[in-house]
Amino acid sequence: MPIIVQKFGGTSVADIEHIHNVAQKVKNEVDLGNQVVVIVSAMAGVTNQLIDWANAAVSDHDDREYDVIVSTGEQVTSGLLALCLQNINVDARSWMSWQIPFQTDNNHSKARITDIGTTAIRNSLNSGVVAVIPGFQGVSSENRITTLGRGGSDTTAVALAAALAAQRCDIYTDVNGVYTTDPRIVSGAQKIEKITYEEMLEMASQGAKVLQTRSVALAMRYNVRLQVRSSFEDAPGTLVLNEDEIVEKETITGIAYSLEEAKITLRGVKDRPGVAGRIFGSLADASINVDMIVQNVSENGETTDLTFTVGKIDLSTAVEVLGELKDEIEFANVTTNPNVSKISVVGVGMRSQPGVAKTMFTTLADKGINIQVISTSEIKVSVLIASDYTELAVRALHSIFELDNPSQLES
Ligand code: ASP
Ligand code: MG
Repeated sequence: MPIIVQKFGGTSVADIEHIHNVAQKVKNEVDLGNQVVVIVSAMAGVTNQLIDWANAAVSDHDDREYDVIVSTGEQVTSGLLALCLQNINVDARSWMSWQIPFQTDNNHSKARITDIGTTAIRNSLNSGVVAVIPGFQGVSSENRITTLGRGGSDTTAVALAAALAAQRCDIYTDVNGVYTTDPRIVSGAQKIEKITYEEMLEMASQGAKVLQTRSVALAMRYNVRLQVRSSFEDAPGTLVLNEDEIVEKETITGIAYSLEEAKITLRGVKDRPGVAGRIFGSLADASINVDMIVQNVSENGETTDLTFTVGKIDLSTAVEVLGELKDEIEFANVTTNPNVSKISVVGVGMRSQPGVAKTMFTTLADKGINIQVISTSEIKVSVLIASDYTELAVRALHSIFELDNPSQLES
């Protein structure tokens, strides 16, 4: 019998009525002749409340106890869903991490999965019992409960789907799929029927927050077919899969934007070997992720300007780190600008289709939008612009790449 993994996010299990609705969705998969494994999130708002309590208790908490506290949200939902399933005559039971066992390392509050036992769950599935599993948690080699980091239930679901060689992993949420861009900005945004893992990774990390990025990377690695769908309507969602499963590839799949980065410019940096290594090494040591980077050619062969972006939340730390380097690197000054947004055009089709960058840049120029920084990969072109122009840029690009009205070519 095929195994289907279903994962329900916080808004899908927001209250008892919603959990009854979820039970019905599980029953539908059972009635289709599948073995079903269900991963649940905490009820909407619960994890935030638990974290607030942990912080209110002591300001500098012991991460092991933090995990004991915040993991309870998912445990409650799993018990409740098992009850609601039994109530409609679906044989079901909940599983705690140590019973599976769902093993992680000892990195409390941001643990990585090390191993997943499948024997007990398989036996239970084979005897016709639905498995209900709390997301976002595991058990360490020291036999303590761990959590996987915010949004970690998506990762739990994908990891279990991989371990059990599930036919599909359905991520139920409050939107009905992944869109060509944010529908709040572009009313003509379309639901994407199929998207590759790579594109989804770009869309997710570029700010389209439907799936936790880490779960997409895991799905790609283990070839787990993912589907993002709504728990409030009965329609297929967006399938995330391998490129070779998509026959007709659009050149451009989507436009993503992110307001989460800030720009830093170092002027008058000495133009000599080792300087960039020193600057970005120090930022990395401070756990600061750098995204886009441009360095100008030096006019006089002595100094140059260096511009890059970091997360807005890291901006002040980055400036401190650079300040400490000033004497050693001998740059003239640092300027920062948090009022920027990164706009990305994403699509695997651009590998074989030249001219995407040109179309993007001329479209922005026609709207009078200045490009501050550019970065590219094989399947995306990103630009940094003034954040005031975010909506204008996204709309113009969505339209020029014909995403407002995509051709309906299907594989
Ligand atoms: N409840 C956890 C969170 O809110 C994990 C999850 O829902 O994915 O981050
Ligand atoms: Mg979530």
